[in-house]
Amino acid sequence: VTTFLKKITRFLGDNEWIDASNSNLWSRDWLDKFGEIPIGVAIPSSTNQVSNILKLCYNYEVSVIPQGGNTSLVGGSVSNKKGGLILSMSRMNDISSPDLIGRSVEVGSGVILENLHKELKKSNMILPMHLGSQGSAQIGGLISTNAGGTHAFKYGMMQDLVLGMEVVLPGGQVWNGMRSVQKDNTGYQLRKIFCGAEGSLGVITKAILKLTPAPKKQITALVSFNDINSLIKVASNIRSEIDEFITAIEFFSDSGLKMIEKHISGFSIPIRNRASFYLLLEASTSTEKISLESIFSFALEKAMKGEDHVDAIVALTNKQRAQLWRLREDQPEGQRLSGAQLKHDISVPPAHIQSFLETANKNCQRILKGVRINAFGHIGDGNIHYNISPPTGKKDFLNTDKDFELMIAKLAAELGGSFAAEHGIGTSKVDLAETLRDYQERDIMRSIKRSFDQKALLNPGVVVHEKD
Ligand SMILES: Cc1cc2nc3c(=O)[nH]c(=O)nc-3n(C[C@H](O)[C@H](O)[C@H](O)COP(=O)(O)OP(=O)(O)OC[C@H]3O[C@@H](n4cnc5c(N)ncnc54)[C@H](O)[C@@H]3O)c2cc1C
Repeated sequence: VTTFLKKITRFLGDNEWIDASNSNLWSRDWLDKFGEIPIGVAIPSSTNQVSNILKLCYNYEVSVIPQGGNTSLVGGSVSNKKGGLILSMSRMNDISSPDLIGRSVEVGSGVILENLHKELKKSNMILPMHLGSQGSAQIGGLISTNAGGTHAFKYGMMQDLVLGMEVVLPGGQVWNGMRSVQKDNTGYQLRKIFCGAEGSLGVITKAILKLTPAPKKQITALVSFNDINSLIKVASNIRSEIDEFITAIEFFSDSGLKMIEKHISGFSIPIRNRASFYLLLEASTSTEKISLESIFSFALEKAMKGEDHVDAIVALTNKQRAQLWRLREDQPEGQRLSGAQLKHDISVPPAHIQSFLETANKNCQRILKGVRINAFGHIGDGNIHYNISPPTGKKDFLNTDKDFELMIAKLAAELGGSFAAEHGIGTSKVDLAETLRDYQERDIMRSIKRSFDQKALLNPGVVVHEKD
């Protein structure tokens, strides 16, 4: 350890190396559930430095945990064993001028998503990736978790927005895949392998991302319902009417709103008639020539015909839109501040959402009577964050955590869905994944891991167990 520390501090300057004793800011995760004390934190500013760090770690067999904004919800961005090196990518934050004809932009992997959004505004372009953590989450983290977010049903997940990338491999070799074309069938789709690899195969240092023209008009609406089935039908009906304009279809429940009201100050809920569930809809257009308001109002009215809804409001200004979005985006924070929780991030085909919710709710009460359920998420692609709080007056789940996890994951699978929709596996779901994956899938994943990382040094313990 002493020789390793001597060597690494020889080529990293004072502000590029943080000792273990000062590593608090990096060593624990967003939920404050995971993270052992690392050997230290390296904060490189060039691909060359990343390569040198990885070479040294390879030689001294020190494990490396790449870290972006540290907003992982599955314990993937911190060390799960003492003595791992945290590789913070935050200094690799250059943004080049966008290519306005090819509609792409080259960025360092440490660029924070919100900063990229701000920068792209100047060129009337967007990266259509939006999520509650965008003020901290970085491009490298978003790619490595294959993040989804609120616009994924329309524009795809992060893997659909990455054209090229540069990656440093565990032994320090650099793969230059910085191509800026969509069509690139030059063999195995290497860039896709790193999407969702959670830092277990290589460290992403740069990326070329696919852009879309910024919308010139946007409308956001909030509709309240007591019946989840009506909400699902309206969400589907509006797509049948004006699919090309719809850019977000989100939902949340009143139990989530109550948590936000209780724990986050300065919060206002603009809808007059509260109900059990809320549907948040957004329509956008990149042309000024269209009357989006009348198209949207007509379609919404038609979509709601015959369906029971309680109230509806439409936001026309950016300020009003932001107010409605906050109701949805503050759901994870409201839940976090409410105390103990079990987080589940599943997806089912949208037609099975109601069936999932009804069965899961019933089964949860069977496992532990009185647990409180807060379901919210991306109804457009069937991704539900199904979070559970202990019964009123109880501090935890009386050792039933695993029962909930398995029941919910199995139910999602039975309905044709996934037990890990967008947050990834990390360390928190790796045992569950090993239980549910069939042998063939596990074997392929393990072979991929081995072929990139023979010494199992890159983010060990995430995604797949290295050994049987
Ligand atoms: C409030 C809140 C809301 C969220 N909403 C969503 C949502 O709607 N949709 C969604 O998909 N996720 C969501 N998340 C989860 C999280 O924000 C995403 O997973 C995000 O992509 C993580 O980015 P990050 O930069 O914080 O990565 P980190 O948390 O730092 O790391 C995540 C994983 O990526 C790896 N990694 C990071 N950088 C690199 C790199 N340069 N090279 C290789 N590996 C790397 C890490 O090792 C780790 O395994 C939310 C989280 C919070 C806290």
